[in-house]
Order: sequence, then structure tokens, then C-alpha cells
Amino acid sequence: MPMIEPKDAIAAILNTTSVLGTETRAFEEAIGLVLAEDIISRHPMPPFDNSAMDGFAVRAADITDASKAAPVTLRLIEEQPAGSATDVAVAPGTAIKIMTGAPVPGGADTVVQVELTAERDGTVEIQAAKGVGKNIRCSGEEMAAGTAAVPAGTVIDHIIIGVLASLGYPEVTVYRRTRVAIIGTGSELIPVEAELSPGKIRDSNSYALTAQAKAVGAETIRMGVASDTREETTRMVREALEQADIVVTSGGVSVGEYDHVKDVIQELGGKLHFWGVRQKPGKPLAFWTIGNKLIFGLPGNPVASLLCFEEYVRPAVLKMMGREKLFRPVVAGALTHDFKKKAGRHHFVGAIAERTESGYKWSVNGRQGSGMLRSLTGANGIAVIPADVTEMKTGDRIAVQLVTLPEDH
Ligand code: AMP
Ligand code: MG
Repeated sequence: MPMIEPKDAIAAILNTTSVLGTETRAFEEAIGLVLAEDIISRHPMPPFDNSAMDGFAVRAADITDASKAAPVTLRLIEEQPAGSATDVAVAPGTAIKIMTGAPVPGGADTVVQVELTAERDGTVEIQAAKGVGKNIRCSGEEMAAGTAAVPAGTVIDHIIIGVLASLGYPEVTVYRRTRVAIIGTGSELIPVEAELSPGKIRDSNSYALTAQAKAVGAETIRMGVASDTREETTRMVREALEQADIVVTSGGVSVGEYDHVKDVIQELGGKLHFWGVRQKPGKPLAFWTIGNKLIFGLPGNPVASLLCFEEYVRPAVLKMMGREKLFRPVVAGALTHDFKKKAGRHHFVGAIAERTESGYKWSVNGRQGSGMLRSLTGANGIAVIPADVTEMKTGDRIAVQLVTLPEDH
């Protein structure tokens, strides 16, 4: 199978990825999920005319001549705190003391804030004129009853949570979370809590990939590590397929004699879409489907593995959950140093931003071995350097994906 271009790889993945079903959830548990229904306001917002200030509800006609020098005195007939509604109406020559958020009483058509008044002996002095409607938040001012307040397709964030609460939606219909199963492969791998022994290293990918999947909002199943035997690999992949929408394996997908992943998935009925992407790191990336389940064979090298998740798995997880924006923001920035690479493959390189007066500058000169996870610590971008580029100079512009920010396209 010939190597394909990164953009063709992502296109092949997204072409075969379909949106999952919907479910009803408690709204507080729906953060990060996509609404599958229009949220309609069942009542006007605000639901009643209410005061925007602490002060006095009066009739504008009574205070047209009021000023600091010549205040108008009105008789206080009632108090209107927030949380209830009085039957008493403001008659000519009277006022009702009112608090912020309290309903505006009948008869009143304006509110004078407390700072422009003086209260004494059952009366209030009004020291300024206020026109009709001042300091009153009118019913329906934000939206009328029946308005589509939040359309289907919206990603639920803290603002939407507030809107849902104010409109009385304790439950919402959303696209469900993608279930992602993660399998490590390799007889050299031992779990985090185990002591090293000759030939063994600790599994880091299954943990890091699980964290990465959680960060996208997926439900995760960390299956553990399959040793390099066909039997164990088959058993684990089969079990993962029973539970997950996306199965992610790491390692065992190159051309080594103990690399069983490809054969196993083929035997399980996987349709291979590509194996080999013209990129560095992550060249051995493989992608299959079985029905509407996706299987990603990520390379074992930790940097390659996490990079491939970011570039190829993450957009698919998001698409399944009904998201429309699947890709991180991309900015152009100047290099802080010269850079050389071989022609032939697109390079994805951990990049560190330096903030200067003229904007961001990028350094991509960390140690970039695809096995060296530490080379990625502190990186806040991934620079993409095209296959045909071999040399770049300080100040040259490079495209950087901002991998700490949410998707914007
Ligand atoms: P492979 O693709 O299986 O040949 O693995 C490539 C390299 O990545 C080898 O050095 C493996 O030991 C290493 N590797 C594979 N899987 C993991 C893992 N889960 N955690 C850490 N390193 C791994
Ligand atoms: Mg291996």
C-alpha cells in the first residue's frame, strides 16, 4: 500500500465517520456535548417587568419637575422586596420602596435609584426627574416566549448551562459521548506500578492516550496491554470492539516480525483504508473500519502515538459527538532559529511560543526523537512543515496548530 498524504488520511477518516445517536441527560452532565434539540423559551425572559435598581417605584408624571434643589416628596405606601409581588399599586403622590429584581408594582412606570432620594418619616424625597421606563427591565426584553433560545448543534458550555437553568431545562437531548477503547501492545511493557526488570519498559501510551481521549470528552476504556502474540492481541481487540465506537491500538503496526496488529484486525473483518502516511513522526499509522466502528493502529513510539491521536483520532471523536468544528486554530508565526529537514515527509514538530511585542515567535528545536516524550513537554503548538521544504531561516513563517485551544474550524 502506498503512503498517503496527511490531508488524504484525515479525509478518509472523516468520510467514514458518522455521528452517533442521541440521549437525554441531566443538563449539568452535558458540558462539552452537542445539543440535539432546539431549546425553546417557554416563557418571556425576564418573565415579568422588574427593577434594575434598589430605589423607589413611582409615576414618572409625579416627578417631572424634581431636582436636587427642588425635590418632590412622595408618600411611601409599601415595600417590594425581590421574590414576591405586592397587590398594592402606586397611586398619584405615592411611592413603593423596591429592590433589584423585584416586580414593578401596578401604577408605577419608572424607578428612581436610592442614590437620588432621601427617605424620612414615611416619605421619600425624589431629587431627580426620570422618564417612563427608567431602571425597569421589561418582560420579554431578552427574548419572547417561543424563541429558539439555543439552537440544536450548539456545544454546551458554562454560558449555555446558565441559559438552560434560567429557562427551566434540567434535562437536555444531546449527542452521546464517543466510547474509545485503548490498547497497548508489546511484550516489553509493564504497568506504571511495576518494577523494571531486564528488557522491560513501562507502558506510557495506554495511559497518555486515555488521558488524551478523556480530554476530548470521550468515554474511555483503557484495556491494558496485549503481549506480542496473535492470540492475546485478537482477544483484546475483539473485546474492545464489543464495547467501543473507536478502538485505538498503539505499537505492533510496523513491519517487525512481532507486529501482529494488522493481521489480527484483517482477520476480524477490518476494512483497511490506509497504512502509511507521508509524515514524520507517525509514518506507520493504519486505519480500518468494521461497520461504523473505527480502528486506529497508532505507532508505538510515544511521541508519534500522541501526535497521531491529536491529528487523526481527535477529529473523529469530535465528529461522532456531533461537533462541527474539528480542527484546532492555525496561526502563522516567525521561526526563532534556522531549521533543516530532509525532503520527502511532512514534519509535525512540537513548537514552543515565545511572546514578543510583534506577536508570537516559534521555536521548534526541542529534541524531537519520536520516542522522547519529554521533547513535547511545554509545547503549546504543533508546527507543520511541508514535505518539500528542506531549509528554513530565522524569521521565516511557519504554520502552527494551537493545540491548547479549542477547535475553531
Ligand atoms: P512498535 O511500534 O511496537 O515497534 O513500538 C515502537 C517503540 O515504541 C518501541 O521502542 C516500543 O517499546 C515503544 N512502545 C510501544 N508501545 C509503547 C507503550 N505503550 N508505551 C511506551 N512505549 C511504547
Ligand atoms: Mg511493539
